[in-house]
Amino acid sequence: MMKNPFEGKEIWFLTGSQGLYGPEVLDQVRDQSKQIAGALEEAQDIPVKVVWKPVLTDADNILETVRQANASQNVIGVIAWMHTFSPARMWIRGLDALQRPLLHLHTQLALQVPWSTIDMDYMNLNQAAHGDREFGYILTRMGVPRVSVVGHVSNPKVLHRVGVWSRAAAGWHEINTMKMVRFGDNMRNVAVTDGNKTEAAIRFGVAVNTWSVNELAEAVDAVSEDKVDSLVEEYKGLYEIQPELLPGGDRHDSLRYAAKQEVALRGFLESEDATAFTDTFEDLGALKQLPGFAVQRLMSDGYGFGAEGDWKTGILIRVAKVMGYGLPGGASLMEDYCYGLEEGNKKILGAHMLEICPSLTEKKPRMEIHPLGIGDREDPVRLVFDADPTEGTVVAMSDLRDRFRLTANVVKVTGPDEPMPNLPVARAVWEPAPDFETSATCWLAAGAAHHTVLSTALELDTWRDFAKIAGVELAVIDEDTTVHSFEDSLAWNAVYYRVNTGI
Ligand code: MN
Repeated sequence: MMKNPFEGKEIWFLTGSQGLYGPEVLDQVRDQSKQIAGALEEAQDIPVKVVWKPVLTDADNILETVRQANASQNVIGVIAWMHTFSPARMWIRGLDALQRPLLHLHTQLALQVPWSTIDMDYMNLNQAAHGDREFGYILTRMGVPRVSVVGHVSNPKVLHRVGVWSRAAAGWHEINTMKMVRFGDNMRNVAVTDGNKTEAAIRFGVAVNTWSVNELAEAVDAVSEDKVDSLVEEYKGLYEIQPELLPGGDRHDSLRYAAKQEVALRGFLESEDATAFTDTFEDLGALKQLPGFAVQRLMSDGYGFGAEGDWKTGILIRVAKVMGYGLPGGASLMEDYCYGLEEGNKKILGAHMLEICPSLTEKKPRMEIHPLGIGDREDPVRLVFDADPTEGTVVAMSDLRDRFRLTANVVKVTGPDEPMPNLPVARAVWEPAPDFETSATCWLAAGAAHHTVLSTALELDTWRDFAKIAGVELAVIDEDTTVHSFEDSLAWNAVYYRVNTGI
């Protein structure tokens, strides 16, 4: 089971005001801002604890509060609201020091203007309408990245939007602290799965390092038969197991070896405190099977995975697992394979050699064994299923030499038109937005990868917020995309990101 990534994490709620108003008004500001923070804390859609902090009225306490947030590993983001008017030059030092994702909540306590009773005191107390605009000005002037959410906290859409951002903030915290274990290098000569690991550490914080696959092979051989026995019992409850793989069956040893791979991989990652990994069929050392089933099991427990040494996609999968924790749907490695190109019924069939995460289905996967033409090892065990129909996003990361680009496509997972009894791997079938031709043309123009994370738990805004927090380009293909506007945006982005990161 995946550990709850939001457990113990906090988002601080900062309220801006000023000393000018005097203690009576500031008491009201305190009480009212506690109500707003309380509404966020109680919201089901916000999975991270929201902590109210004392009202900020001068540059010193703003800076001090920001320093405390920066110093705490538990604080993964801050929400700021200017309840009254908080002259924004007081915020400059604090914003300059801020090292956490920022959400600017533009709201006010009352839902309505109290038409019949409103007086000057009321208006002075409830002036977020201009206090927040002053704050927005300084954020823009200083180039502080943030997500602005506008509306009343009684509106479920407002709470949901804050929740989406809080998930993205958790994704950022994860990528900042995560460790990726690579068994072997990238598949020989493949371009898009490669990338600059040092740049990834600078941009995202992630540590990407390589181990010999034979260290894993030795760990596999050392797994006790008792552990395998208990896993086999677990598998019986979870999967429809092909009879020859069951105890007493001709190929039960293959299942046992796959179970040992699962135990060894899990133990290896735990010992390195790593939450993502890669392998490659070109470098399997003493492993007897390409790990397929074991990879599927670990992905379903929240680990990121990239095939053929693709650490960038492995990172994205782990981030998607964290951001989507607790939501219906799942996240998996995916690879574009085949098209249906009939007019009116254009579809993409995605799969991989073996490693598709069963979090994409609610149904019971089948556990099967089949030959695999590559890798030159014994037949590998794998889970076979169709991804459930639902909405989703596919996201890829490319290294463009001077930066990373994320490309996202909104998709509708439809399932296949007919059963595919002869395809011995798990798969997903989807229709990309806005239509097949536009999607594929834009994807090619973006230089986006054939390896992706397919998430059926996350909405596009979560990826948008994540990219904004990370300061990384996100090229979006959705219902509103046209080829020409998309290509223009790539050209503008090329200039923007070069200028923004310094010439
Ligand atoms: Mn692949």
